[in-house]
Amino acid sequence: MKVLVAGAGLAGLNAAWELQKAGHRVEVFESNTRVGGRCWSERLPNGEVFEHGGEFIDVNDHTIRRLCAEFGLPIVGLGISFDRRRQVDGSIMSKEELAAHISALSAAAERLCASRGYRVSLREVAREAYGPDYESLPYCQKLFATTTCDPDQVNGIAIARMFQGHGNGYIEHRGRVMAGNDAVAREIHRRIGDVVRFDTPIVEVRQAEGQVTMRSASGETFTGDAAVIAVPLPKLKRLIATLELPALMRKAIEGRVMGAAAKLNTMVSGKATPRGVQAPNAPWWSWSTADNSGEHARGSLTSYAGGRATMASLKLEDGPDYWLEQTRAYRTDLEVSDICVLTNWATDPHAEGAYSMPGLDWEPEQDRVFDQKVGSIAFAGEHTHYASLNGALESGARAAKLLTLI
Ligand SMILES: Cc1cc2nc3c(=O)[nH]c(=O)nc-3n(C[C@H](O)[C@H](O)[C@H](O)COP(=O)(O)OP(=O)(O)OC[C@H]3O[C@@H](n4cnc5c(N)ncnc54)[C@H](O)[C@@H]3O)c2cc1C
Repeated sequence: MKVLVAGAGLAGLNAAWELQKAGHRVEVFESNTRVGGRCWSERLPNGEVFEHGGEFIDVNDHTIRRLCAEFGLPIVGLGISFDRRRQVDGSIMSKEELAAHISALSAAAERLCASRGYRVSLREVAREAYGPDYESLPYCQKLFATTTCDPDQVNGIAIARMFQGHGNGYIEHRGRVMAGNDAVAREIHRRIGDVVRFDTPIVEVRQAEGQVTMRSASGETFTGDAAVIAVPLPKLKRLIATLELPALMRKAIEGRVMGAAAKLNTMVSGKATPRGVQAPNAPWWSWSTADNSGEHARGSLTSYAGGRATMASLKLEDGPDYWLEQTRAYRTDLEVSDICVLTNWATDPHAEGAYSMPGLDWEPEQDRVFDQKVGSIAFAGEHTHYASLNGALESGARAAKLLTLI
């Protein structure tokens, strides 16, 4: 079987690799000039690796961890808490407090669901859980920033259920691939060989009589026996115009919301300890992670802003200067240099956003819609599974399996 794959992020690459291992021919089309998509690592002038996109690898992210083991890529500990960020005064919530915040969110979501059904926003759930001052609660700020979406537009019940298990199974020892997370993408690319066509955005997909045709922006057409569509959500929303889909799947795609986020990666010096600290009275944070001794911060600091409102408050349209100044003003534990890299995912032409969340019209049955193929097409990508590096990889493996099951 010849399989066309649109998108060479972790989802598309893993699908292509699994298909190739099962004996199929693959051709991968990528709009960018590199593989990895939102998994993209580079180095600062001092040699420190930084991540433009996906960074934290959870202890439960078994698929990416298994691949790293197979590829001989060490995962190193970050040495900071993700869920429990420090405040500027150095305080940090206890794990009991964190568990209490998560269970309050969950109980509020289920109460609202019982009285109103599923159409409840994240803001409504947060207000119900934490009262009128919910927006100043550090856990709530973290929650809104992590979802990257307008809290009025995303479904609070879906999100509360997504985070439900995090309190009891409290685990903070997240890591990163020492060589940069995109080493995983580059290694899959090396293994699948010269099958990725770069600079080839797919703008139309059709299927008829057991054949799938993809057309690129330059008008070239490609034909295969099957296809995996693994492009980011905003691109997928456009590609489904020419496809017949089950109604529930179409609803899940159209109703899902793409969030926005930005990162400012800065070169720093000083022997500070690794720390993730919430900005004062603002819903963004920054972190310095552990060097190989595990004791000191590496020579890099990452600031992260999730959601369009927070990004606007940081004046990103004028460049990194204002954000850099704000970062320097409160990260007095480090010497923050002027050397920095700003990545604004909202304006990235290949992703058109950061990652996606269930929209207001989400209902539980939408969670399983991508466990089926449509004719000879399977869908992959964070938006079809879980908005993480690991979720993207798993969605690719699932798509390959769907196409090869007899
Ligand atoms: C700022 C930020 C922080 C994050 N933090 C974390 C984190 O800490 N931990 C974590 O696990 N995850 C994190 N994520 C999420 C994670 O990075 C993504 O879920 C994952 O990388 C998505 O992979 P994907 O293959 O679904 O999509 P992508 O990586 O976007 O791959 C899709 C590919 O399709 C290409 N493409 C686009 N349009 C077309 C087209 N028309 N034709 C052909 N190709 C096309 C793109 O160029 C891209 O290469 C973060 C993401 C961002 C942006």
